[in-house]
Amino acid sequence: MSQFTRRKFLKLTGAATVASSALTFGSFAIGGAAKKVVVVGGGIGGATAAKYLRMMDPSIEVTLIEANKDYYTCFMSNEVLSGERSMDSIHFDYSGLKARGVNIVHDWVTAIDPDKRVVKTKGGQSFPYDRCIVSPGVDFRWETIEGYDAQVAEKIPHAWKAGPQTVTLRKQLEAMKDGGTVLIAPPPNPFRCPPGPYERASQIAHYLKKHKPKSKIIILDPKDKFSKFGLFMDGWKRHYGYGTDNSMITWIDGAGGGKVESVDAKNMTVHAAVESFKADVINIIPAQKAGKIAFDAGLTNDKGWCPIDGKTFESTIHKNIHVIGDSSVAKPLPKSGYAANSEAKVCAAAIVALLGGGNAPQPSWVNTCYSIIAPGDGISVAMVYAYKDGKITKVKGSGGLTPKEFDPEMRAREEQYAHSWFNNITADVFG
Ligand SMILES: Cc1cc2nc3c(=O)[nH]c(=O)nc-3n(C[C@H](O)[C@H](O)[C@H](O)COP(=O)(O)OP(=O)(O)OC[C@H]3O[C@@H](n4cnc5c(N)ncnc54)[C@H](O)[C@@H]3O)c2cc1C
Repeated sequence: MSQFTRRKFLKLTGAATVASSALTFGSFAIGGAAKKVVVVGGGIGGATAAKYLRMMDPSIEVTLIEANKDYYTCFMSNEVLSGERSMDSIHFDYSGLKARGVNIVHDWVTAIDPDKRVVKTKGGQSFPYDRCIVSPGVDFRWETIEGYDAQVAEKIPHAWKAGPQTVTLRKQLEAMKDGGTVLIAPPPNPFRCPPGPYERASQIAHYLKKHKPKSKIIILDPKDKFSKFGLFMDGWKRHYGYGTDNSMITWIDGAGGGKVESVDAKNMTVHAAVESFKADVINIIPAQKAGKIAFDAGLTNDKGWCPIDGKTFESTIHKNIHVIGDSSVAKPLPKSGYAANSEAKVCAAAIVALLGGGNAPQPSWVNTCYSIIAPGDGISVAMVYAYKDGKITKVKGSGGLTPKEFDPEMRAREEQYAHSWFNNITADVFG
């Protein structure tokens, strides 16, 4: 019989990073064949789920199948672009999960058979499961911008999956002359990390202000508003002259013709709805959809995302397969790493209960998204979510936004919180 007790579990996890009401326990597997869970994708959602399954019930055999040996967090990758941190500082591997007894397989998942309950890989391996968790992140809708595809993205990076793409964009910024133009094209909703493109513009502006002050940033946006809008606008005014004739940042919204129609990579020109723009560095962040395997496994709806039951994150299309993270339809939870981490814990707790013959516990979730506008100027949006009347809902009065009135002490603290959040969540996911 498992020696794993609730008390030991709480000691291991610490209460702080956990949406605690998600952690009511089902019965543990006792005797008989070990239950098998296969996790597809070892990013923020998948790695958290694999780790927490092992912590909640060590009798479960957990296999995590991840394409890459190295994981680079998207969060804080904008600070790599500004030169404020190194690629090394956002790099993680799977040794921590291995030490927790997770069977790590580096391979590409090509198919999931929901009837036979088997996951298949490019390397020719098959993994049977009792329950499968799918967390493949996002893929791009290349077809929405003429002239832009995976090959062009080698030259005109999206940098929306951290790693070599981040390095390419950073090198281009470093190589650009003073007085150059950087063009950033954020995607339409819904997409991974709603404040991310605007934090990116801020971080690049910070780098240019310091090293290439005659340079400009043009943001071509298909939207008329975005996350933490007022706070970003206010920050851009304070740091980067936004709204003046000498502004480093120009933001063209959807109504103003900001939607990108096509890209001419050879001439480094972007054709938007009204005008064309030539730039020295171009960062196109294309429209998004669920990761490829979600489509191949028939887990997506007509909008290209995976519908789930909010209590367990089990697919509403295929039984015994759970989808978490960016690929899932978990609104009002955002497509963020913190949400993926929170969803993974809810999903792991539900699976432990269900495999033990019990009912999934009542879940709750938490999310905070930090953005750093300039060193010493952090902002955030936070919210707690509950499961009510069969839906994921925001808990009224639980969250909030950094106050608009600029308080330097508070903003410096927010930046510290952002960095400490990064340290905590990466330890929680990969440690
Ligand atoms: C610039 C930027 C800044 C961000 N900042 C923040 C932030 O401050 N806070 C925050 O909370 N979130 C932030 N995010 C969002 C966050 O990174 C994502 O929401 C989070 O990574 C989602 O987790 P996931 O598990 O769904 O996907 P991912 O973390 O992308 O993991 C998916 C994994 O699945 C693997 N995979 C996919 N398909 C297969 C397959 N067929 N076989 C094997 N492996 C496969 C991939 O290799 C990948 O490792 C940011 C994102 C960006 C781009």
